Amino acid sequence: MPVNLKIKFNGSKSDIKPFWVPVAFELQPKKAARPIRVLVKDFEKDIKDEPRKRSCYFEIPNLPRGVYAFRVHDLYTGYPIIREPNLELKAREVEYKFKPRFRPRFGPEVREEISPKAKKKPRPGVLKQPNTYAMDLTVDAPYRIEKSYHYLPVIVYIKDITPGDVRIKSIDFDTYSESEGYTSLPPESIYKVLDRDGTKLEKDGLPFLLRLDLGKDYETATTDPWYRIILLHKDKLKPLQGDYLGYKNVRYLQYQVKVTYRKLFEFSKQFVFRTLVPEFDLPRPEDWYYGDNHYHSDFTDNPYEYGGPLPMTAEVAKAVGFSWVTVTDHSYCLSHPKTPEEEEQGNRWLSYKKAVREANERYKEILLVAAEEVTVRRYTSGLHLLSFGNPFIEDKHPMGFGSLTMKEVFERISESPGDNKGFLFAAHPVSEGYVWKESDYKVAADPEYGDLFVGLQVFNERILYKRITQLSTESYVVDPFALFDENDRQRPWSKELQEGLREHWVKRFLLPSLKQFGRKGSLKKYFILAGSDAHMDFNYALRPHPAFLLHYLNDNAFGKVRTLAYLPKQNGQTLREQSLYGALRTGKTLLTDGPVALFCVRPEGETKVYRLGDTVTFPAGKNLELLLEWHSTPEFGPIERFKLYLGTTKGEKKISDQIDFSGFGGGNYGFQGQVKHVFPSWTESPCYLRLEADTTIDPDADEGLFRCITNPIWIVAE
Ligand SMILES: [Zn+2]
Repeated sequence: MPVNLKIKFNGSKSDIKPFWVPVAFELQPKKAARPIRVLVKDFEKDIKDEPRKRSCYFEIPNLPRGVYAFRVHDLYTGYPIIREPNLELKAREVEYKFKPRFRPRFGPEVREEISPKAKKKPRPGVLKQPNTYAMDLTVDAPYRIEKSYHYLPVIVYIKDITPGDVRIKSIDFDTYSESEGYTSLPPESIYKVLDRDGTKLEKDGLPFLLRLDLGKDYETATTDPWYRIILLHKDKLKPLQGDYLGYKNVRYLQYQVKVTYRKLFEFSKQFVFRTLVPEFDLPRPEDWYYGDNHYHSDFTDNPYEYGGPLPMTAEVAKAVGFSWVTVTDHSYCLSHPKTPEEEEQGNRWLSYKKAVREANERYKEILLVAAEEVTVRRYTSGLHLLSFGNPFIEDKHPMGFGSLTMKEVFERISESPGDNKGFLFAAHPVSEGYVWKESDYKVAADPEYGDLFVGLQVFNERILYKRITQLSTESYVVDPFALFDENDRQRPWSKELQEGLREHWVKRFLLPSLKQFGRKGSLKKYFILAGSDAHMDFNYALRPHPAFLLHYLNDNAFGKVRTLAYLPKQNGQTLREQSLYGALRTGKTLLTDGPVALFCVRPEGETKVYRLGDTVTFPAGKNLELLLEWHSTPEFGPIERFKLYLGTTKGEKKISDQIDFSGFGGGNYGFQGQVKHVFPSWTESPCYLRLEADTTIDPDADEGLFRCITNPIWIVAE
């Protein structure tokens, strides 16, 4: 007799609909070779509500009895998100429920904090995880702090609430030390408390965390979102020394933030963080400035994700060593008005620009730029473009899959008047689901659109550890550091980056443009950029998949992926959007998550020095001088490998062995150094030189844990 399998979800249809991602169910019979695969084709028709219960189900009828290995695959990412090795189908009807079978492993010190009473007798109501279908509460803090920055910024962020409904009772900070475990931070550890609008919170002249209601011991949240930025004195927290997430013997802070609030009932939730406190600032050559080219602020807000408020973003940018951030919120989110004013304008573009302008006025040391991540229509889902300095491009698709095609986007921008044009980069062109195909590049790089398309953001996110985890919705503690283990380590971690560099950039653009030079006599250059694609994610990234009670967890964080831009002659002046955009669109940049290695060239006897992004033209046969310099710190380790590439019409080859590094012995070039090399009578033309450098090479994957990749210098010797 056949079996009906009912796969039951956590929540009613309307609960899970906003989060639904296409999945395939796979049943592999234990005694047969072929698996049975079933796709949910139409969410509305195929998923059915359970009468009188807050759950819904998907039914697979007429399965042969037996034992199966059961898997659920996420069709977007290809991940098997559920693996059930033994599913017995014996009765006429079998129900399969998604339950949190996995209990997070907490250290003993954290375990004590989970009230045993609360565990035995579950409190009524459910404490929601970030981005679930009710209120979101999250806390975040930077993954590292510059040596020269003296504070630890922490944000407590509550969203999706009805103003007046939530009372915040307390925010407590505990710091961890090996001898004492978690101890509470004394009040004098707080340097400054800021409200959303930048006003300071004080009581009797001292910083105070809450704006208490009159005569009460709590603060009622009267805005949505409600948040508070708290700066702690960094040196009031005791640093630990050790290994985690691939870092070896580093100095870091471990602390937890506990937020207690009342919404019908009293709840508290704890967040555990680790923050590197290195003994050195980021390596910083003169006239070069760090930043992020792909980041999401809270103007990105949809059922899947939301970003970080701009003031906190500026605060964390300072802490991690950045001077600028191009904020790239989704065209979809910017196309959906939230206020009557935006309704009238038809989108959020003007209020987004205004919010960025206000954040810049408040934080003079950091330049935030309002850019856009445009979703263009391709097949059923979309493709992403980073749009800098262009008019607003909308995405009116109901699911955010793009309402304009690539051609339409490029036409729209190139037809816009005069100085209203900027430039575009392909966003993460190798990321699963968003891979750029030849046909996409063909449209973008069509000469008809001039120099609109200038390159590829090939370095996207830095994920060394990732896992899919089942956090219970009743979890009172979020501690990713207790969840990651060595099985979650990605080897190699830089597969996407390398493929992007070789297949998409070098083979698709750099080499062909050298060949075209011969025919046309002009050189079309394409550049690369780096971006974190962080959505707040100041310490780690956690994305929900509520239908299955799952979370995607990884160690990407804002600040880990950096673009370093050459911006000379700032002379203490505030950085300007125009000069930053100038550097980005002319390749005066390098990409790094650690060390800095760069070079410049000069035809012998000339005074002008040519830098990354430049083209040097000189008579063939002249000597060419190359000056290579490098900077690293113990946080990333000494440089262990250089790869200097020469690109010609015949292809790319490594020529690092031509350089005399004999002053630096044994495959270790130290934290700092420079070499000068003279190429005698240079004739190769047209060609380019570009550089990569690695530190902390993982022998198992033969890749650096940290690396630097420069844009090229082009050479025309005629
Ligand atoms: Zn993005």
